[in-house]
Order: sequence, then structure tokens, then C-alpha cells
Amino acid sequence: MTVDTSPPAERADFIREIVAADVRAGRHAMIVTRFPPEPNGYLHIGHAKSICLNFGVARDFGGHCNLRFDDTNPVKEEQEYIDAIQSDIRWLGFDWGEHLYHASDYFEQLYEWAVHLIRNGDAYVDDLSADEIREYRGTLTEPGRNSPYRDRPVEENVDLFARMRAGEFPNGARVLRATIDMASPNINLRDPVLYRIVHAPHPRTGDAWNIYPTYDFAHGQSDAIEGVTHSICTLEFEAHRPLYDWLIEHLPVPSRPRQYEFARLNLTYTVLSKRFLLRLVEEGRVRGWDDPRMPTISGLRRRGFPAEGIRDFAEMVGVTKTDSVIEYGQLEYAVRSVLNRTAPRRFGVLDPLKVVIENYPEGGVEDVHVPNNPEEPTAGSRAVPFSRELWIERDDFMEEPAPKFFRLAPGREVRLRAAYFVTCQDVVKDADGRVVELRCTYDPATRGGDAPDGRRPKATLHWVSAAHAVPAEVRLYDHLYTRPDPGAGGDLLADLNPGSETVVPGALVEPSLADAQPGETVQFERLGYFAPDADSRPGVLVFNRALTLKDTWAKVQARGG
Ligand code: ATP
Ligand code: MG
Repeated sequence: MTVDTSPPAERADFIREIVAADVRAGRHAMIVTRFPPEPNGYLHIGHAKSICLNFGVARDFGGHCNLRFDDTNPVKEEQEYIDAIQSDIRWLGFDWGEHLYHASDYFEQLYEWAVHLIRNGDAYVDDLSADEIREYRGTLTEPGRNSPYRDRPVEENVDLFARMRAGEFPNGARVLRATIDMASPNINLRDPVLYRIVHAPHPRTGDAWNIYPTYDFAHGQSDAIEGVTHSICTLEFEAHRPLYDWLIEHLPVPSRPRQYEFARLNLTYTVLSKRFLLRLVEEGRVRGWDDPRMPTISGLRRRGFPAEGIRDFAEMVGVTKTDSVIEYGQLEYAVRSVLNRTAPRRFGVLDPLKVVIENYPEGGVEDVHVPNNPEEPTAGSRAVPFSRELWIERDDFMEEPAPKFFRLAPGREVRLRAAYFVTCQDVVKDADGRVVELRCTYDPATRGGDAPDGRRPKATLHWVSAAHAVPAEVRLYDHLYTRPDPGAGGDLLADLNPGSETVVPGALVEPSLADAQPGETVQFERLGYFAPDADSRPGVLVFNRALTLKDTWAKVQARGG
């Protein structure tokens, strides 16, 4: 096996190979791609793959990538989504510059082109109902039948289409269809619908329109108007390509874009469908579109995943022509690799157990210096206050230690990270027999965490000073679903994981975190990566666990899996 060490920009996938060949052949003065979200929800990790591809190709070939809102369905589209989409793309690290467009910018031009088709005998107004159209369409094995309205005279079509626009007919009364071939083996070519009557105000065009173009009619023509050279979309549009080409060839469009399809991203334990994500939000099953369990870009950001990790993941899964399902662990692996390099280490105790160091002076405090990131010497160190009363993690102590439990136990010495060795002398319990405090002694000669006599405890624990600790609520996250293939049993909601969020109310963290802000993901030593959340309130910080430290994906790879 050879390892590809070329920088990502030079690593070719089949899309980049096509673009490179077009550039070599001198087919385009400039490479133009586009990312065309429908503003009917927030962007998810699948969109991130498409964004990285479209903006990445434009960057690699010195072109540009348009952001075009595919706002052709006013019933489902909202300004909130338009704003969120823009901020998510920027956060991911991409910039459309001045190339921000909307399909609705082209409504007048699209209308003129529809009339052009009618005049050439390439489109007609159909009075069949939606159900009848479906019935006439035929099936994969049977050809469709021509609509009785298919041979309407041109002038009648022009007149009816103008009156559809003027709002004379109710929703669903008529549609405009392309005159192609009701017997085509490709159902998309069986006189596809180009315009529908929709009496609904549009976020941008208001009440100006009573008809709206379908995706199939708006998309390719918008590409042509914008001079898009490579219109890259997911595989489900492959069967639409003949229609895409048919429309481009039957219209006087200003340029000749071409559509290429790649496999969409599918992830285990994840549902990537805006419609379903909207349902989770509307039914209150999550804390909103940016819930840290959501596969949305805003959710992953809130979870503490850095943009670089998401970009690396997109790079890692690559661009292919065959559908597959990617292990969620691969996303975690990419994110963990970035966080391991960049996240400052901090001390946080989730389930605190009090430790009193009997031979440490009452009221005494000293600063110990702890490296911010052992992987990154330039990250420096910070001062952490140490005092007589500390908190350690409850499960770092066992009164009767199990075999292979090397952490604290009666009579046993451990290292408190970057501070001192301590030995447990006594255990204090409450009336119910629950351990509430450990009485310990420390060895002053081990300051900094090393003994002059070279003795080495088998365990090193994290800790926080009781007098300096800052209270925190920590939210632990697990997969949103209980199975890797949610919905495969027939009911997506039944597969929701009731344990996907665990709130730990009584955590305590070191004082340097008092002003921690969202976006600054840290590692709580020995526990995982945690992201400050905007829900933090005076006196209580809120942290989301982004990831544990355990890397299951690396293990799978090591096993050759
Ligand atoms: P969803 O099915 O989640 O609602 P969509 O395809 O309807 O998504 P759009 O807003 O139309 O959402 O998507 C914008 C672009 O993102 C499209 O070009 C689409 O092909 C691409 N895209 C959507 N989902 C994925 C995915 N899972 N993997 C890669 N690209 C995707
Ligand atoms: Mg879509």
C-alpha cells in the first residue's frame, strides 16, 4: 500500500480529474461551481461534504463557488434558515465573496424561458390533477399516456400560463409541463412538471408570483445564468441529468453547464434528512437545530467539533460514485486528531469526592504549573491553585480495590497531576455508609509530581482545589439513536436513544475556566473533550462533552477492520 502524502489540494478525486481535463482542454476561462441549498432547514454534515467539494474544487482550480439559495418552494422556506446557512458555511471556513445568488432572482427570466418552450411546442399547460398526472405517468415497467391537454394550441397555452401567473386559478388547478416523451424509459422525461400554482408569499419576492418553477426547471437554468461550469450534485440526480441537458439544449441560455454526480454522505447512527431533523426540533425531542446531538453543522459546532475536523473528515471520506455508509467513528477520529493538537488541557471533576490533606497547612494555597498541552510544547503552561481541600473523581477511589485497579485506595499512594503524591489514610462515611471524604497525607518532597527517591505511583489523578473550584453543569452525549441504521426497523422515532443526553449537574472545574467561551473546546484531562455552551449562566458554567478520549476508530483500523 502506498501512502498519499501530497497536500489535499493536489489529491485527485474523479470530479477533480474531470475538471482538470476540462482545464487542460481549454474548455473554460474560469471554473465555476455552486452550492445550492434549499433554505428549508439547517445544514448538516452531508451538506458539509458538498460544501467542501464545491468550494474546494473552485479553490484548487483558481475559480469561484457561488452560494445560491434554491428558494423555489415558498411554503417551506424561512429567513432564519437563510441566515443560519450563511453563518454555517462561513464557520466551516468557506467564502462565496460577491457570489451570493437566489433562484428567485431569476424568476422573470425563467418565466420568459417557459414561454419560449411553449412557443416552440416544447411545453403545455395541463389541467389534469396531481393524482391524474401520477396515474398517466405509468410505471418503471409500463409507459405513460399522453395527457388529453398535451396538444393544446400554442396561443391557448401562452394565455393560460399568463393567467396562472396572474393568479386566476387555485393551487393545483393547472401545471406547466415539458413536452418530451411519455414513453421514455426515464420517468423524469415523461413530460415533467416545470411550474406549479402556489398561492403563498415568498421570503424575497413577496406576493409577486402565484406560480413557482420546480427544482428541475430552475436548477440548470440558474446554473447557466451564473456561468456555472461544473454543477456537482448527489447521485439521486443522475436520472435527472437527461432532463437537465434537454432543458439547456431547448433554451437560449447564456452558457453550457454540465452536471456531475457523486455519492451522498451517509453516516452510521445518523439521519441526514432535513425533514426528519425538523420533526425532531418541532416535537421538542432535542434542544433545537443546534442541539449537540444533531448532525447539523451548528449542532456539531455547539458540541465542540472544530471546523478543521469536519473539513478533514470530508477529505478523509473522499468523493466517490458509489453509495456507502461511513462509520461515525471516522468523524470522531478526524475531530479528535484536531482537538488532540489544539485543545488546552484543563482539570474538571464530574463526580466530586472530597480529599483533605491532613499535613498540608490550613488556609495554605500554592500554584502548581501544568502544561497546557503536552503534545504542543509552544502551548505553554498555566498556574492551578492547590490547597488542603481538593476534589477528585469519585471513581478514582475504591475502598476495596478490585484487581488491576491501581488508583486511590486506603493506604495507597497516587500522584495528583503536576502537584504531589498523596496517600489515603482514612475514609469518612455518612450515616448510609457512603464515602464522603478521604483523609490523606502528602509528601512535600514530591512537588511537581516527581519523587527524589524515584518512586513512581501507578496512577495519576486529576483534581481541583475546593476553595477555587467553579461549579459546572456537564452534558454528556451519546448517539441520538440506539442502532447504527436508524429507521431500518421501520420506525425512526422508536430508535431514538433515551440515554443520548445525561446531565451532570454537580461538576467542578478549575478556576481558569471561569470565563470559558463557546468555541474554545478544552480537554478535561483523562475525561475527554468539552465545549463551553451558551447556556452557561452566572455561577454555573455549562459544558458539552464533544468526545471521550477513547478512540475506537483507530483500534478498528489497527485491527485491519
Ligand atoms: P436533505 O435530504 O437532507 O433535506 P437536500 O438534498 O434536500 O437535503 P439541499 O438543500 O437541496 O438539501 O442540498 C444542497 C446540496 O447539498 C445539494 O447539492 C445536495 O446534493 C447536497 N447534499 C445534501 N445532502 C447531502 C449528503 N448527505 N451528502 C452530500 N451532499 C449532500
Ligand atoms: Mg434538495
